[in-house]
Amino acid sequence: MENLDFAASVLHKQFEKGDAYNSLSMPVYNTAAYEFSCAEDMEEAFCGRTPDHVYSRLTNPTVQYFEQRVQEVTKAMSVTAVNSGMAAISNAVMALAWSGCNIVTSPHLFGNTYSFFKFTLAYYGVETRFCDMTNADEVERNIDKNTALLFLEVITNPQLEVANLKSLSTIAGKHGIPLVADTTAIPFNVFSASESGVNIEIISSTKYISGGATSLGGLILDYGTVDYSRSPKLGELSATAGSKSFTFKLKKEILRNLGAYMTPQVAYMQTLGLETMDVRYTRQAATCRELAERMSKLPQIEKVNYTALKDNPFYNISLEQFGEYPGAMFTFDLSSREAAFRFINNLKVIRRATNLFDNKSLAIHPASTIFGTFNDEQRAAMNISQKCIRLSVGLESPDTLFEDIRNSLNNVR
Ligand SMILES: *Cc1c(COP(=O)(O)O)cnc(C)c1O
Repeated sequence: MENLDFAASVLHKQFEKGDAYNSLSMPVYNTAAYEFSCAEDMEEAFCGRTPDHVYSRLTNPTVQYFEQRVQEVTKAMSVTAVNSGMAAISNAVMALAWSGCNIVTSPHLFGNTYSFFKFTLAYYGVETRFCDMTNADEVERNIDKNTALLFLEVITNPQLEVANLKSLSTIAGKHGIPLVADTTAIPFNVFSASESGVNIEIISSTKYISGGATSLGGLILDYGTVDYSRSPKLGELSATAGSKSFTFKLKKEILRNLGAYMTPQVAYMQTLGLETMDVRYTRQAATCRELAERMSKLPQIEKVNYTALKDNPFYNISLEQFGEYPGAMFTFDLSSREAAFRFINNLKVIRRATNLFDNKSLAIHPASTIFGTFNDEQRAAMNISQKCIRLSVGLESPDTLFEDIRNSLNNVR
């Protein structure tokens, strides 16, 4: 059958090789190495002339099956699974960047991503130019011949800012550089990054895909849509590898040398998570919308920040790119930091934890936690307010969650 729906294609992806025991779920190949019958076969495999597995830092059947399932539903040219979302970001960027290059991005990013760009990369001579990614002219003014990539989060965490992907994609294409997007906030069952012009997609699979917070994971999806011929780093390679240049560099060098490939146990858990993602997301996103709407009418709440609310500055672009249910997370402001702490301490159902898109609803005060090591000035530049609480909506009913929120709001002023 052609044109299977998302759930069917993700559930029924065949194994590449038949299993000796007809296992219905993919076995966990907990092995570091693979045996060969002769030296000749070994040579062929190690030199990449046959697709056999040689060592699990490079490839592993269970991890590959997870990658193939993601590839099946996203139609990416290649998928690479790694140990965490941060490993996905760092491996992808290392494959594209060189000493003396620059990266154009927004200061409104997940805290560790910001720190990676601002501090970690700076030691290696990579300059990060932070600008307003929702302003295409400003982005273009920051690009020069040493720009290696544009990077953004499609819905920034936790500011919930939404840039116009099509216009950024046009600019990136004009300059022969990839638009690299972290799409962790909106899963691929509802949002096609490639159709919006994203060239390389980054996902923290710790979140929607794992679902139950079982494990950390990251994905790098290459849609093979960039002409790297003008790239100081990949230009030469592109003469032979063409649009596969990034994937080639990533898989044959960076991934192998940095050693962050996903492990088989994790791939097994995340494959199970992927099977139920569609149904979980539908419920979580609908509950999120209902809660945001109901909470925006509560007098104790100064502001609800969620892009599907009509008064949100990103309402139109969010609707155009993500539809009526833009993710299962929103933020809201109370009157002060103290009120936010009291509210969090009063919660009875919603859990006090970081992480996003878990089956359980989770609340956190970003300024004192994820952004706790930054100073006030840096937090202001990143638009992180002391009054703000981030809520990741889980699988509980909207009524249960709303009651917990309303009760917790009592006596917070
Ligand atoms: C959580 C998160 C990451 C990092 O992912 P890990 O799996 O925790 O390493 C990156 N980007 C965004 C938007 C995230 O929410």
